[in-house]
Amino acid sequence: MTHSIRSERAACIDDPAVFQHQLLEEPTQARRGAENERALTLLTARAAAVCDDCPLFRSCLYEAVVDHDVAGFAAGTTPAQRTQLRLALGVKVEPEDFDAFAGVVRGARQLNHDEVVRLRQANPHESLETLAMRLGCSLSTVKRHMRRAREASGEVSLTVVKPTMERVLAAYATVVGAPRRRRVQRVA
Ligand code: SF4
Repeated sequence: MTHSIRSERAACIDDPAVFQHQLLEEPTQARRGAENERALTLLTARAAAVCDDCPLFRSCLYEAVVDHDVAGFAAGTTPAQRTQLRLALGVKVEPEDFDAFAGVVRGARQLNHDEVVRLRQANPHESLETLAMRLGCSLSTVKRHMRRAREASGEVSLTVVKPTMERVLAAYATVVGAPRRRRVQRVA
């Protein structure tokens, strides 16, 4: 995989009215109804056309499918299509763990990774549920922090074989059905 075209400009930057439209950002949250369905279809078609001509299409697609569980419309794909692509490619992407990066705000208190690890080390026999209650966060947040600590200490070594760009583009052509897209055709 190469990101050598990183310096080129993302075409969606110039079209925030489409790419940041609530219907595209959160299609599953949108109120159902014929009007919204029509608007979503139009927005999707417009966004897809912009992505078609974007110089970052390939790297954007790879990152949105393989590296990050991004929201909204990206690289010519809806979130549902990216789920299909990951299934086809055997790729599993963890949801963006904003808690682990930024800390979890509970009331006025900020929870950070070191705090979770310290409390766990001080109370090794307590259940993770109890730890979550003490910290005022969810069990899944505690689990994420513990997993991160294990990975950092080398206790868990994961070997992740990422698909090649060509496989991602081929899966895209199958799922999205877009051999018409210039950048996909280039490697087909
Ligand atoms: S391919 Fe990615 S960077 Fe380019 S316009 Fe689409 S969403 Fe934006």
